[in-house]
Parts: sequence; C-alpha cells; structure tokens
Amino acid sequence: MLIDSHVHLDDERFDGDRDILINSLKDNKIELVINIGADMNSSMSSIELSKRYDNIYAAIGVHPHSASEMTEKTLDELREMSKEDKVIAIGEIGLDYYYDNSPRDIQRKWFREQLELAKELDLPVIIHSRDATKETYDIIKEAQDGTLRGVLHCFSGSVEVAMEYIKLGFYISIGGTVTFKNARVVREVAEAVPLDKLLIETDCPYLTPEPYRGKRNEPMFVKYVAEKIAEIRGISVEELAKSTNKNTKELFRIK
Ligand SMILES: [Zn+2]
Ligand SMILES: [Zn+2]
Repeated sequence: MLIDSHVHLDDERFDGDRDILINSLKDNKIELVINIGADMNSSMSSIELSKRYDNIYAAIGVHPHSASEMTEKTLDELREMSKEDKVIAIGEIGLDYYYDNSPRDIQRKWFREQLELAKELDLPVIIHSRDATKETYDIIKEAQDGTLRGVLHCFSGSVEVAMEYIKLGFYISIGGTVTFKNARVVREVAEAVPLDKLLIETDCPYLTPEPYRGKRNEPMFVKYVAEKIAEIRGISVEELAKSTNKNTKELFRIK
C-alpha cells in the first residue's frame, strides 16, 4: 500500500468520477491521501472530503496564487476550520514567483502569517515554492524556532538546498517530475535525501508522471513515482513504501 501525500481531488477535473475514483483507491493499493487546500473554497472542500471518506485527510491553507484574497478574517476562519478532526496540516502555502498571481510582498506577508498560524496550532506546513528558492528558505529559517514542522512539496531544488531544509527539520516530497526524461536534478535529490526524510505525492490532477504524462493525474499514479525512486536508490518498492508511509504518518500525526 502507498500513501499519496498531496492531492487536489476537489478539482473540477474530478467532477465526473470523483466518488468512483475515491472508492477504488483501496483496490489500487492506495492506503490514504491528503487533500490539499489552495484557497478558502478548496480548504472547505478538503474538510468535506475528509468527513465523507475514511481514507482522506485534509490540509487547509491559502496558496501564494490566492494570497491577495487573504485578510485577517480569513486567517481567523482557517483557525476555526483547523478544529475539525481530520485537518492535519496548513497548506499549501509558500511563494510562487513564476506565475506572480499575487504581488510578491503580499505573498510573503501571508506566507509568514500562515507559518505563524501553523506554529500556534501545532500543525505541520506543506510548502509550495516556485522560482523563489532563496526567499522561501529565508522565511522558513526565520520562522523556525524549533517548533515548525513540514514538507517541501514537489521539490524542484538542488540536493544542497534539500539538505539545508533537512537541517531545519523538514521533509522533502517528490512527485511525478522524477519520471520525466530531463529531470536530472530531481533524480539526484530522490537519491540523496535520507530515506527517513522522504515523502511521495502526485499533486493530481497536475504533473502526471510517465507513462501517462499529458493525461489527468490520479492518486494511483503515485506508484510510478515510487517505482522510479526505488529504481534510482536500488531498493524495492516495498522498502521505499515502508519508509514513505511511516514518514507521512509521523509528520502529519496520522494514526
Ligand atoms: Zn504546489
Ligand atoms: Zn498542490
């Protein structure tokens, strides 16, 4: 059994077959998935999915794309929503200087505020970082007072940067890009990160791994991510899954 630590099953691309797909997870050897919030609506949907299905847990938070929609009031709403049983993380939060959908100073402000919220609530964070390597790291380092826990999702940085995050107590999550032909750096990271610091994910419906690249991504495709990393590390998929499942449950305190 595998865990997909990062899914967006509330996405409209699953509207036609969401229930069928979720009900077939177990038969496809997916033990559980974590549905990620990206704005207030999808955070709400995450909670609803987690209430409806045993094998779905919820993360709530506002993505840098939607940072300009955030106010003190939405921060309070997240605080309230976090009281729901199966809310296990704040995310995804971070910086995205590739799309710049929100002004950068606004992205930084609400990234910092949500890191503080996570510390206050004693929840781990799920970090999204694109084209903002140094500033993401600096903000996390500044916020790290020994109580901040979390994971860098779909990590795309170098081995050196991955190791710096591990020193800060963070986990590194690898997604479908590791299966792409030109993904030399991601493969180096997949090989170098200590096994007890590694998570796997799909980020579905985005970033579909080979051999399905171009199609809609699904949680079951996490097996292609697992197979590729196991191959790179020269271990069995079972051994990899044993670690990544354990790491995911430890980080998110899932029993
Ligand atoms: Zn992301
Ligand atoms: Zn995501």
